[in-house]
Amino acid sequence: MIPVSFEFFPPNTPAGAERLRSVRAELDSHRPEFYSVTYGAGGATQEKTQATVLEIAAAGQTVVPHLSCVGASREGIRTLLEDWRARAIRRIVALRGDLPSGMVQGGDFRFASDLVGFIREATGDAFHIEVAAYPEVHPQARNAQADLDAFVTKMNAGANSAITQFFYNADAYFAFVDAVRARGIDAPIVPGVMPIQAYFKVARFAEVCGAEVPRWVARRMEGYGDDTASVRAFGLDLVSTMCDRLLAGGAPSIHFYTLNQADLCHEVIRRIQPSS
Ligand SMILES: Cc1cc2nc3c(=O)[nH]c(=O)nc-3n(C[C@H](O)[C@H](O)[C@H](O)COP(=O)(O)OP(=O)(O)OC[C@H]3O[C@@H](n4cnc5c(N)ncnc54)[C@H](O)[C@@H]3O)c2cc1C
Repeated sequence: MIPVSFEFFPPNTPAGAERLRSVRAELDSHRPEFYSVTYGAGGATQEKTQATVLEIAAAGQTVVPHLSCVGASREGIRTLLEDWRARAIRRIVALRGDLPSGMVQGGDFRFASDLVGFIREATGDAFHIEVAAYPEVHPQARNAQADLDAFVTKMNAGANSAITQFFYNADAYFAFVDAVRARGIDAPIVPGVMPIQAYFKVARFAEVCGAEVPRWVARRMEGYGDDTASVRAFGLDLVSTMCDRLLAGGAPSIHFYTLNQADLCHEVIRRIQPSS
């Protein structure tokens, strides 16, 4: 089986939580390495993340909470880490996170590397720490070189592995991995892949997080307009072909940004599964 992991966001309503349970039941058949749960900047989202994390853990599955440090205090983070440790949660995704627009950064941490260093200082080797990677360069980075330097600093602060921002250009991933390896870092870098459900949504996400939708893909998708069947078919071909290339080129596994939906992930995995 191809190694995979799946990312969820914490649902906002009881109906969303129920839907997520059935999504998880469907995705279980792929025996994921883990399910990760995103973590927003506001306090309310933190509680929702925790509720989703605890539910997945209670089901006996490996759950990986995301932890963003923007605006957070060292004591707040320490308390959360202790809680997770007591619940036998052993892997986390450590992030800086983003402040809602207009807010000014406060808190005890500036960059994700500060958080990674703090987690190691406070908990030793208790956690496997994942961090974020940006094959197409983080949108706030001064330039690609500075972003690579920041990534190397973050790994050297004690991260074990990385998951990338989504992309639709496998060459960007390979070039990034080569650049990281050239800096002496051997840690796994897992491509984050977002299947395309609704093109306008993906285009909006891409704009915000600095991912590129190649022009030819954008033009084809725009041309399909409301023809959701064609968007789905073209998106599935595009993403499955890219995953095949990534795995053939040495990607250790695929991390799916599920957007709390199972069907497209299911179909991509079915297509990329080696025939036995
Ligand atoms: C796999 C994945 C999961 C994510 N999950 C979440 C989530 O759950 N919740 C959420 O809010 N967001 C999430 N994000 C988005 C992420 O929080 C944003 O992209 C955020 O803007 C950067 O977070 P980071 O951890 O990559 O930050 P950092 O690694 O700190 O980098 C942020 C910026 O600062 C620069 N930088 C870093 N260190 C230095 C330094 N020492 N000097 C100068 N510049 C520096 C970097 O080049 C980059 O431009 C996720 C992203 C990915 C890829």
